[in-house]
Amino acid sequence: MKHILKVAAIATLLTSCHSSENELEGLNSSKKDTLITPVTPQNDFSYVAEQFADLRVLRYEVKDFDKLDLKTKTLVYYLYEAALCGRDINYDQNYKYNLVIRKTLEAIFSKAPNPDADIQMMKQLETYAKRVWFSNGIHHHYNNDKFIPECSENFFKHELEHVEENLLPLQPGQTKQDFIAFITPLIYDLSIAPKKVSLDSKTDLVKSSAVNFYEGVTKKEAENFYAAMDKKSKSTEKPMYGLNSKLVKENGKLVEKTWMLGGMYTQAIEKIIFWLEKALTVTENDKQKMALEALVKFYKTGSVEDFDLYNIAWVKDTESIVDVVNGFIEVYQDPLGRKGSFESVVSVKDLEASKRIATIGKNAQWFEDNSTILPQHKKKEVTGISAKVINAVVESGDAAPSTPIGINLPNNDWIRQIHGSKSVNLGNIVESYDQAAGGNVVNEFYYNDEIKERVKMHASLADKLHTDMHEVIGHASGQIEKGVGDPSATLQNYASALEEGRADLVALYYLLDPKLIELGVMPNIECGKAAYDEYITKGMIVQLARIKPGKDIEEAHMRNRKMIAEWVFEKGNSDKIIEKKVEGGKTYFVINNYDKLRILFGELLKEIQRIKSQGDYKAGQNLIENYGVKIDPTLHKEILDRYSKLNIAPYAGFIQPKLIATEKDGKITDVKIEYPLDFKDQMLEYGKKYGLLPAIN
Ligand code: ZN
Repeated sequence: MKHILKVAAIATLLTSCHSSENELEGLNSSKKDTLITPVTPQNDFSYVAEQFADLRVLRYEVKDFDKLDLKTKTLVYYLYEAALCGRDINYDQNYKYNLVIRKTLEAIFSKAPNPDADIQMMKQLETYAKRVWFSNGIHHHYNNDKFIPECSENFFKHELEHVEENLLPLQPGQTKQDFIAFITPLIYDLSIAPKKVSLDSKTDLVKSSAVNFYEGVTKKEAENFYAAMDKKSKSTEKPMYGLNSKLVKENGKLVEKTWMLGGMYTQAIEKIIFWLEKALTVTENDKQKMALEALVKFYKTGSVEDFDLYNIAWVKDTESIVDVVNGFIEVYQDPLGRKGSFESVVSVKDLEASKRIATIGKNAQWFEDNSTILPQHKKKEVTGISAKVINAVVESGDAAPSTPIGINLPNNDWIRQIHGSKSVNLGNIVESYDQAAGGNVVNEFYYNDEIKERVKMHASLADKLHTDMHEVIGHASGQIEKGVGDPSATLQNYASALEEGRADLVALYYLLDPKLIELGVMPNIECGKAAYDEYITKGMIVQLARIKPGKDIEEAHMRNRKMIAEWVFEKGNSDKIIEKKVEGGKTYFVINNYDKLRILFGELLKEIQRIKSQGDYKAGQNLIENYGVKIDPTLHKEILDRYSKLNIAPYAGFIQPKLIATEKDGKITDVKIEYPLDFKDQMLEYGKKYGLLPAIN
């Protein structure tokens, strides 16, 4: 490993992989986010930009970008432009009025400040704008709740009066006064679109979610519409119907508005195609070229079958230095798990760190054979596992500013079964988290010096190994029994949390296995113990800092973490395998027996695999509801108090590097990389340069 930190890497204290696996629809990619602690950076690069609300903005570096040859840099540059050209799409997908709101805020902050404005309220409005940029819309990127400005409604209206009419996104026939009356409640009224994605099964999930994937359609209608499509296709190689469209009711009939050239979002998609076609002139090899050609074709035809062909070509491209994810990828923002959010991640390979992950991948069969899951649930052949460490160069759409630290694609399960998948860690993002991290959280929430030292010493590698194994052998493990449906159908709203739990448990089970030392990826068993210390403390304590008082845990990864930690705590209670200690009003969970804890992880892994393999909804529901959702209010309050004293915003996202191409006679002669310092400036610049879609689509 290249970068060893002197200060503990607490970065991934609250890592979460936004991922789930579905046998047919396959939602199997991952995102991680992090709780961090400020500390002096380890080198000259400044990793922390700013903090506001519950958010921190960090920066990341692309080491060795300048060492790439001109052709490679040019390829990266074209893909970078293609990535940013899709940025608007994600805003519109998240909520129908996000773009009109964003454009309004950008109009306010692009003009010279109004000299009479109340300074504090102006600051509050700016914080609101930053939160909108951070979340790609008016709902919190993580907990899905609508947030509103702290400044008064009158102040906001007054500011709008000061903006020149031609700068505002007025709709045809709208006067400025009409516009103000239209936009203000969209921003201020909490009863309008209160939740981005609703998981409350007592409501109609489609109607109660603000996302712009359905209009005038009930959950039942949408489900029937797509069930009919799934049924009609007799092939086992089913495409992901509905992935790239909005479903609307027109004259009483359901129709799909497809996101494609000439369709919905065409203004952005035309530009994406333009840059991808440029990229096609400088590809590294034929496989990469075929993948990019297939992607262009998909944007032109809008056919989900073409999207599968693209993914198949993309999985085969493993040799290239440059890689790109670009398209409608993750389906977490759709309460029905069908619609793909636009995202792009452009990256270059980190050759050295990829070795660690490759070693784990090469031994995937050994891990499968030695797993605790029932023999009939083991894969006879674990195929197509490919994993590497990459350095991100730019991220956009659903992948920015808040970003994954690991990606495992494609999501369509039949492609994964037959053609395999690619799994990556974003090395420089993780590095940035690590560098921005510090020891405060460890000092506060871990029990004694021995544990604190162990975590500080080993957490960085332990986290990386956990992520590697979660992705490479975790999601890949296990098989579904014959005749049992896809988890999205059998386990429904619990599928994601259970799938994440399953992948975590594979990683946890092996983190204490001497096999990792034998393979040379882990120095000693202390590293594995640190991983256990972290997992239990995160699951039982630290992650609760993200939940508002009185609320339940809703997010899938947080649920899975809580469920696992709580379950092993309960099962090991009589043997005191994990002990709850309260000292000086502070609660700790301390592991007394690591080997026995490993056995419990193995048991739970076997059970969750059984639940997935047999589609046992009831058992899955019981696990999540009994162990993963409710929080003890007294403990919760204590954690919130202790955490708030650390003064750390719980969520982090990134300012993107900026690529600048120099041209001569229409040919690129060099590409330079810069690292902007100011989040607001970057957002305003993006708004100008990549604001390609109309305010309302
Ligand atoms: Zn995952």
